[in-house]
Order: sequence, then C-alpha cells, then structure tokens
Amino acid sequence: MDKIIFATKNKKKLVEINEILVGTGLEVISMEDAGIDIDVVEDGSTFEENALKKATEIMKVSGKIVLADDSGLEVDYLDKAPGIYSARFAGKETSYSIKNQMIIDKLDGVPDEQRIARFVCAIAVAYPNGDTKVVRENFEGRIAYQPDGENGFGYDPIFYVPEYEMTSAKMSRDLKNEISHRGKALRKMKEVLLANESTSH
Ligand code: IMP
Repeated sequence: MDKIIFATKNKKKLVEINEILVGTGLEVISMEDAGIDIDVVEDGSTFEENALKKATEIMKVSGKIVLADDSGLEVDYLDKAPGIYSARFAGKETSYSIKNQMIIDKLDGVPDEQRIARFVCAIAVAYPNGDTKVVRENFEGRIAYQPDGENGFGYDPIFYVPEYEMTSAKMSRDLKNEISHRGKALRKMKEVLLANESTSH
C-alpha cells in the first residue's frame, strides 16, 4: 500500500507511531520525507477539529492518506485550560518550566479532589476519496504540587497519576506508551487503518 503521511514536524511522534504499526505492513512517513512544507492554522475549537483540519488539508495537497494529531492538557479547575492552547499557553516561546510553574501557582491552595486534569489526544485520518475518521483518548490524572521527574516532555513533570503514585515524567517510556492518551489513540487509529485496509482490497 501507499505510504501514509503523518502531518507533524515532530520526529518523535513518527518513531512512536511506527513502533506501534510494526508488523502491519503500514508505513508512516513525515511531511518532510513526503516533500511537503505547509503550515496548517490550528483554528478549530476542539482537538478533533484541529486534527481533522490538518489531516484533510495535507491530504488535499499530497493526494495521499494523511494522519494528524492534536493533543493537550485540560485542567478542570481552570475550566479545561490550557486545552487546545497547551503549546501556546503563556506564549509559544515560554519554557515548560515556566508554563508548569504557572499552572501550579494558579492551583495554589486547591485540594487534591479539585486538581483533576487529563491529557487528551485526537488523531484523524483523511483518505484521498474524502473519507475521514477521528479517534480521541484521554489520560486521567491530577496537577501535582510541584514538578517532579525528568522523562517525557511538556507538562509531564506536573501531571501526577494517582494509580502509579508518580508523575508521567517519572514513568518509563513503555509504561507511558501503554497508558497515555497518545499511546491509546495511536492503537485505536491502528485498528481504523487496518479495518480500512481489509475492506479496500
Ligand atoms: P501538539 O503537538 O500541537 O498536539 O501540542 C501538544 C501540547 O500539549 C504541547 O504543549 C505539549 O506539551 C502538551 N502535551 C501533549 N501531550 C503531552 C504529554 O504526553 N506530556 C506532556 N505534555 C503533553
């Protein structure tokens, strides 16, 4: 089958999805590898809308099957902020140590049961015949009282997962992949891609 394009400039995401797709005969390549260099404006109001918009626009330019994702952190006490604005929270160029400290400060004095938060990941696929599908998975946790851990990226140091008594920045890559929003959404998308493969032959 054709190679699938992942609408991301993030090589780590590409490695992650190809690890999950091992053995399926499906291969995902980056936009760069596909020779595409366009920026899609993420102006949707939900993770799903943004993922679908990215996948569809790049499918139209490339004529290939395209996958795209959108993810972020929702903090219930902050009315689900930073949400779809997670990467831009407090300014795109602001470091995550500052973004993380700002969230902790906003929750100063807020007790455990009101510190509920989740990582969300939506992944969309757009097929050249116009079909689209989007999946979404959550990873539930709480905002920690202080940053802890060196693994992962972004908001991981302040994302405490009570079941494991640690932040996601303390988790091994394998454990995080097993339980995270992105790991679960990628596995769900794998099922979507495989189902489509079997019906299109
Ligand atoms: P995206 O790459 O445009 O989807 O932006 C994702 C945003 O959400 C970034 O600000 C990330 O830091 C944050 N984010 C998404 N998933 C995770 C995660 O697994 N750990 C930490 N931060 C995450």
